[in-house]
Amino acid sequence: MASLGKFVALLFFCYMLKNAAAAAFSDDYIYSDEDIKPACDNSNCKLPNCSCFGDQPSIPLEHRPQFIMLTFDDAITVANIETYRKIAKQGRFKKNVRMTFFVCHEYNDYTLTNELYKEGHEIAVHTISHESNTDLWRTGSESRWKQETVGMRAMLTKFAGLPDKELAGHRAPFLQTAGDTTFNVLKNEGFLYDSSMPSRSFMDPPFWPYTLDHGYSQDCQIQPCPSEDFAGLWEIPMIQYVRESKEGEFFCSMVDACTPQPVTPQDTKDFLMKNFRRHYRSNKAPFPVFLHEAWLRNENRLEGFLQFFEEVLQYDNVFAVPIRDVVEYIRKPTTYTAFSQRQQAAAQLCKKKETCSYTEPLRIMKSCTTCPKYYPWVGTPMGKIPPKDFPN
Ligand SMILES: [Zn+2]
Repeated sequence: MASLGKFVALLFFCYMLKNAAAAAFSDDYIYSDEDIKPACDNSNCKLPNCSCFGDQPSIPLEHRPQFIMLTFDDAITVANIETYRKIAKQGRFKKNVRMTFFVCHEYNDYTLTNELYKEGHEIAVHTISHESNTDLWRTGSESRWKQETVGMRAMLTKFAGLPDKELAGHRAPFLQTAGDTTFNVLKNEGFLYDSSMPSRSFMDPPFWPYTLDHGYSQDCQIQPCPSEDFAGLWEIPMIQYVRESKEGEFFCSMVDACTPQPVTPQDTKDFLMKNFRRHYRSNKAPFPVFLHEAWLRNENRLEGFLQFFEEVLQYDNVFAVPIRDVVEYIRKPTTYTAFSQRQQAAAQLCKKKETCSYTEPLRIMKSCTTCPKYYPWVGTPMGKIPPKDFPN
């Protein structure tokens, strides 16, 4: 009897399937609301909190500013701050350079983080652990992502004395998100933007940052990409670079990942300039210069890098600003002559400059506030209980 029941059920299922298929190809098939996603346009997406994929500021091209978004990832230390200051305080630049730092916790000096912020740079979140196994990020649960991102923001607020609301951006370690899981956390926890998603399909012409109100619309270079909508959350695309050499063309999402690496000042400058022009001569989509400080330890490369900035900052319409300024500009666009840089909220003074030493794990942490009892970590960002699951 049981097998007869199964057979009948199977017949019924096949009958339903056949009917569904017929309905799908006939005119009287009624689409549900989920089937058709309304296209993003001015009727359902309005500035300042919504911007469609492919939209550009209403300012005519000749009056539009060209932004350069210079960002550095990972911990801020006594070793790399020299380079950052060299760039920010170059006498030969016509304008100052303000940057965005995506900071993670291990070996981060929170007193220097406080200084960089006060010098006008943006500080953003790059998780606490920066765990090197990318599978853990790809498959990470919502609670893990929350601990890593919200926890890092709490640490920057506490130990570097930075205003919580100014810590608005996020970049995933190794650009590996968990798709919707990560973006859900960013939206629900009040982050303003993500900048982890590379694009190769939309390099030429490039595109402006957009919000995810109508979903993720660019190419998916690192799976998984978000599939749901995240109203009000901005995506600052990592528009790729092309590196040309005798071996052919090479594409990369971070400047320092393109090979062969330039080793002369001229080659470095030419590499950056060629990619910059693709933005400057088309729609002036903000030009990313996303890299790690180690790339500039080579003196010739640093010189070529500085020469690039020296030249482009001479143009009246070119500005090197933090990502946050770019978002605010898109929300309220102006001509480049009327553009004024955004003022950040004041940080707390960093009077104490404590050196906190721990044995489990063996770490030193520089903090603007009294040292926490235990080394702060994922799940215990204020250091009130001993850290768990610490990788050795
Ligand atoms: Zn990193």
